[in-house]
Amino acid sequence: MNKQLRPAVIAGNWKMNKTPAETVALINEIKPLVANADCKVICAVPFTGLTAALEAAKGSNIAVGAENCHWAKSGAFTGEISADFLTALGVEYVIIGHSERRQYFGETDKTVHDRTRAALDSGLKVILCVGEQLEDRENGITTELVRLQTKIALKGVSADELKSVIIAYEPVWAIGTGKTATAEQANEVCKAIRNLIAELYGADSANGLTVQYGGSMNAKNADELVAQPDVDGGLIGGASLVAADFAVIVKAASK
Ligand code: PEP
Repeated sequence: MNKQLRPAVIAGNWKMNKTPAETVALINEIKPLVANADCKVICAVPFTGLTAALEAAKGSNIAVGAENCHWAKSGAFTGEISADFLTALGVEYVIIGHSERRQYFGETDKTVHDRTRAALDSGLKVILCVGEQLEDRENGITTELVRLQTKIALKGVSADELKSVIIAYEPVWAIGTGKTATAEQANEVCKAIRNLIAELYGADSANGLTVQYGGSMNAKNADELVAQPDVDGGLIGGASLVAADFAVIVKAASK
C-alpha cells in the first residue's frame, strides 16, 4: 500500500451467498468491527440483497456494491440488471469481469469492456477484475495477458473516469482454492498493471489508481499481501462471509 498516493480498499465479494435477512445480519455484525477502519470498506452482495444491504449500511463506513451489471440501458435482456437500476437503488460500486463470470457465464474481454462502459456512464464505481489461469502463468504469459485484459476493458475510458475504477488482480488459480499468490507474485502483477496505466494515462493516474489483490486472501495472509507497495488492498471472497475474518483483513489494510 502507499496511502499517501492512493486509498487502500478492502472489498468483500459475497458471490451467491446470503438471503436479504442474512445480509442484514452480516452487515450488522461487520459494522462495529470496521467502524474505525483507515481504508475503504465495500460489501458486494447479490442483487436481491442490495436494498437490505444499503439500509443496513446506512450511516456507516461500509459502501455497497453489486457483483455484475448488464451493458445495455434497458431492453429485451431477460433476467439481466442494468447499471442504471443499480444507481437508482443507491449502489455505489459494481464488480465487473470476475473470473467466475468469465468461466461460467461466457464473459469475454469485450463484454467486460461493455459492462465497464455502461457502469461508468451510469455513475457507478467499478472494481474491474483481471487475472490469469494457472496454464497462462506456467506458459509465462501472465503479464501480457493481464495487460491485454486491462487494456481492452479500459478502451475509451478517460483519465477522469479512471478515478472511478479500482483494478483487482485475481489469479484464477488462487480464487476459492486456498492457494494464495506469494506477496511477491501479487506485487509483481499489480505493479505491471500500474505500469500499463502509466503508459496509457501518465504517472499521476497510475500513482492514484487502487490495485487490489484477490485470491484466497484471509485473516492470516492479509498483512503480508497489503504490505507490498503496489497491493492497495484486496477483493475477498470466502473470508468476507465471516465478519471476524473480514475485520482482521480490514485492520491489516488500516495500518
Ligand atoms: C473472489 O471471489 O474474488 C475471491 C478472491 O475469492 P476467494 O477470496 O474465496 O479466493
